[in-house]
Formats: sequence, C-alpha cells, structure tokens
Amino acid sequence: LVKVLLVDVDSKIANLALMKISSYHKSKGDEVFLYRHRAKKNFGFEFFDVDPGLVYVSCLFTWNRPLAQSINNRFRGKPLLYGGTGFDHGRPASERNYLPDVIEYASPDYDLYGNDYALGFCLRGCNRKCQFCDVPLKEGRIKLADYRPPWTWVPDGFTKAMLLDNDPALYPDKLHDEIFRWFMSSGVRCSITQGYDIRCVTPERAALLAELNPYDLKFHDHRLYIAWDYLGVEGFIRERIPMLLDAGIKGVNISCYMITGFAPATKGPDRCPWDGADLTGPHAADLHRYEVLWKDFGVLPFVMVYNNERGDPWLRAFARFINRRVFKHTEWADYRGWLPEKATPPDRGEKIAVENRDDFR
Ligand code: SF4
Repeated sequence: LVKVLLVDVDSKIANLALMKISSYHKSKGDEVFLYRHRAKKNFGFEFFDVDPGLVYVSCLFTWNRPLAQSINNRFRGKPLLYGGTGFDHGRPASERNYLPDVIEYASPDYDLYGNDYALGFCLRGCNRKCQFCDVPLKEGRIKLADYRPPWTWVPDGFTKAMLLDNDPALYPDKLHDEIFRWFMSSGVRCSITQGYDIRCVTPERAALLAELNPYDLKFHDHRLYIAWDYLGVEGFIRERIPMLLDAGIKGVNISCYMITGFAPATKGPDRCPWDGADLTGPHAADLHRYEVLWKDFGVLPFVMVYNNERGDPWLRAFARFINRRVFKHTEWADYRGWLPEKATPPDRGEKIAVENRDDFR
C-alpha cells in the first residue's frame, strides 16, 4: 500500500481530476493526502510531514507552472506525476497527459475536499475556436455520443451541482432542455460554471434560464455567467442580453467575462456602429465593452487579463476598477484620475486575472 500525496496547486473549486485519482487509490487501499496550495507564492512546509510513495501535482494556470515544478526539488527521486492545463496548455491532444480510463471513469471522491456540491460534465468539448482558449485543442469538438446525463453523475442526496461543460449552449435544443429541466425537476441547484454562450440565447432558452435561475460558484447568489470576448460579437450582445432581461433575469445577476490584453479579440471598426463610440486606441474596446454591459444593460462585467499579464498598468487598474466593482459608484475617468499616468498602480497583492473559464476543471 502506498501513501499518495495529491498537490492541488491552484484550483479555486474542488479539482475533479484529483477527486477521481483519490477514488482510484483509495479503492486499492492506498492512503491519500491532499495538499491545497491555493496559488500562494512559495511552497511552505505544510505537507512535509507526509513521506509519500507517489505524488500527483495538478496545476491549472500556466503562470503557476514554475511554482508547481518546484515541488520536484522537495520530492527528488519519488515518482511525481504532473497534470492540468497549467502544464499542457496549447499542446495538441497527442502531447497531453490524460487520465487513464480506469481513473477517468472512476466516481469522484467527494470526501477529498469535503465539498457539498457535485461536479461533473454531461459533455466535454466545444465547437468554437476562440484563439485564446485551450478547450478546442484539449477536448476537441463536442461528441454527442459521449453524453452522460446529469442524473448519472450527481450523487443521491446532493442538492447542488457544478456543471463543467465547456459550452452547453451549443447543444441541440432537446439535449440542452433535458439537462437543464432535470436540474429544475430534481431540485438540484445548478451553477453553469463555464458560462452560457450568449450567441445561442433565444427567447425560449432565456425563459428556461430564468426558470432555472442558476447559481454562482459559491451557491450564494443567483448568477448567469456569459462572455463578451470578441468585440465583433457586439450585435449578439445587444440583441440577446435584452432577451435574458425580458425573461426576468436581472442584469446584476448576470456576470459577463471580457478577455483583455488579447489583441485579436479587440479588432473592430473605428467607430461602434450602434452608439458611435470611438474604438481607436489601445484600450478603447475594453472601455466600450464595460460601458455597453454596465451602462446600457446593467450587466456586471468581469475582466480576465490574458495570460495574467502584469506589464500594462492601465489594464491592471482597469481590472481592479471592474472586478472590485468600483464602477458601481465611481466613473472610470475619476478612478483613473488619481493614478500617475505612467507609474505602476499600487498592487495590493490580489490576483486580478481569474482563471480562464475552461480552467475550472
Ligand atoms: S472560450 Fe468558450 S466558446 Fe470559445 S472555444 Fe473556449 S469553450 Fe468554446
């Protein structure tokens, strides 16, 4: 029997892969230890009292990869297995680490994190090809034949579930409705963790989403996550957000992710065809998306800084302004006003960029 150490470098929610690995090893009688690092700067001594025979390291974010690799120094000579998007982001499927089937199809060990919510996929993959996103490379297109209905993976007795599907809005209506109607009829509260593709909203789907009333990642508030990454989909934003609002979903219960610092996403006309806003200048598209979302529709924007880039003071300030919701009581011009034009804004040590949506797995 082996002592197995699972190192979760940076997951924000329970890590499904580690939960499955735990199940597998416990079923063999191995002793399993979890160490959650929560993306802190350095590894301390917290898990040094465990002398494992096998170590798994999961890292979700590429910028934490050096940190994750530093574990190697502590466990030299021990078998160490690395996995997660932080290690293989951008690589073709053939060059990635996937769990062997015996682990992939194991039921997750819910005792590992002690979470009271179920986690799972009905389907993996996405048929879109956003250039900043790893899902098309990692998961490929949606394979409907792999469908696992939610009632097969939400354990009995659970009243909350995180749906991890990459883009469930792309499913055909029948399948889409079956999944979400099951959550409603079973009474299991659902969080659509990877967001709902605004381009696929119809009045019927908006009504269904309003009835579902999905939750945020903590199951504290009602929250529908959507995204406006490419400036060019403004037409969908302006057409489909009103469908959600008309169906009864409040703007403040919608969070819209916006990728920033990723140039291809912000290409567009010099002037907004709808409101004439000037879209020239390095950050005009970022400000414009915020203004449309919040000022026109009352939807809460959320900035994701591409690659957690820290070299653009404007962007860091903007991310703080948006993600701390300063915009609710202060104009950007006023907030920006007290920042020295070229100086790096004060960094209070908080992570502004959150995970890529596809990294919640
Ligand atoms: S960002 Fe979303 S819609 Fe775009 S490729 Fe990734 S999973 Fe698909």
